[in-house]
Amino acid sequence: MKAFFADQIFDGKKLIDNAVLIIDEGKIVWVGAENEIPSEITLPTLRKHVSFIMPGLIDCHVHLALLNHTPVSPIDWALCSVEAMQHLRELRKAGVVACRDLGSNDSIIIGIAKAQRQGLLQDMPRVVAAGAALAATGGHGTNISIECDGADEFTKACRQVIKNGAEVIKVMMSGGVNSPGEEPGPPEVNEDEIIAAVREAHARGRKVAVHAHGNTAIRRSVNAGVDSIEHGVFNSEDLIEQMAAQGTALVPTLCAPYYAVQEGLRVEPDNPDHKRSQAIVAEHNHNTRLAFEKGVMVCMGTDAGCPFNPHDRAFYEAVLLHKTGIPALDVLRIATLNGAILLGLDKELGTLDAGKQASFLILDTSPVKDIEALCADKQIYIQGKKVE
Ligand SMILES: [Zn+2]
Repeated sequence: MKAFFADQIFDGKKLIDNAVLIIDEGKIVWVGAENEIPSEITLPTLRKHVSFIMPGLIDCHVHLALLNHTPVSPIDWALCSVEAMQHLRELRKAGVVACRDLGSNDSIIIGIAKAQRQGLLQDMPRVVAAGAALAATGGHGTNISIECDGADEFTKACRQVIKNGAEVIKVMMSGGVNSPGEEPGPPEVNEDEIIAAVREAHARGRKVAVHAHGNTAIRRSVNAGVDSIEHGVFNSEDLIEQMAAQGTALVPTLCAPYYAVQEGLRVEPDNPDHKRSQAIVAEHNHNTRLAFEKGVMVCMGTDAGCPFNPHDRAFYEAVLLHKTGIPALDVLRIATLNGAILLGLDKELGTLDAGKQASFLILDTSPVKDIEALCADKQIYIQGKKVE
């Protein structure tokens, strides 16, 4: 048993001053104000005084094994797996204790998630894996997708990835922000196709996460009852209100355009795709803040693994969410509790409550006062073990 005395604890919902976190065998025993410790709890002799404690971050949108080529040989598969493990380690160093892989070459990440369910890799961030995504033939991200056309093929592909072990279904609903079409982020999947995928996934107890940039793609997705809109750049007030009413989550992945602009333009200053990414940032920020204000469950996701978007800076998504105008305390809820709910892990993670996993961060400065405190060196505990 070990007790952490902190100037302040964010427990996933609220701030507690002069607080204590007591852990044992990888689980949380008690958390609360120092002067409210129940008499039946004997304080352990192992005590540590720290500044700030909060639950570990939950990254709802990563790609652990996104490669530019399709693996064809066992050597490539081994290479992909080792790269994925390295990316997982980088996410951990950034303070992430659980992540959701939304598309990888076939089933590699499902293998990692299965290994964790067998008790391996317990000191690594918990992985929830989609396996291969579902996309229209020739659509967005076909290198990590099963290409399908028509409701029957979407149904079939959905059953196939579930058979492979997918815990969540990813559908590529639109092109990218730079894809040619009548509208930015043009739709690629039809109404009947997404309805079929959602029906199949929900019948089998899986959530559906959709890559959707353009307004038509978002509209079709929300109407079909998907569980989360990923990116959601060209959202609109009517759809945001519908999302809030239905309980559709938003994972804006602000890091994706941020790094495309910051790093992409530095490395390739004339690339028109990066310039267009720059042009959408203001609208993306506006729609993200509006979604928060209208009561949509916003969750933190980085899209790490996409070009220029590094796994070891996952915490920066929280900084970018705050920069849209969302208060820091709400950003912390978004980055912890909301993600745990979306990933179906809120019985184990997301808040510091008795009985949950002792997976938390120790910071020198309160991120409520300065959100960039999340970027500084921190101590990271996963299931009671200090891992960084
Ligand atoms: Zn992605």
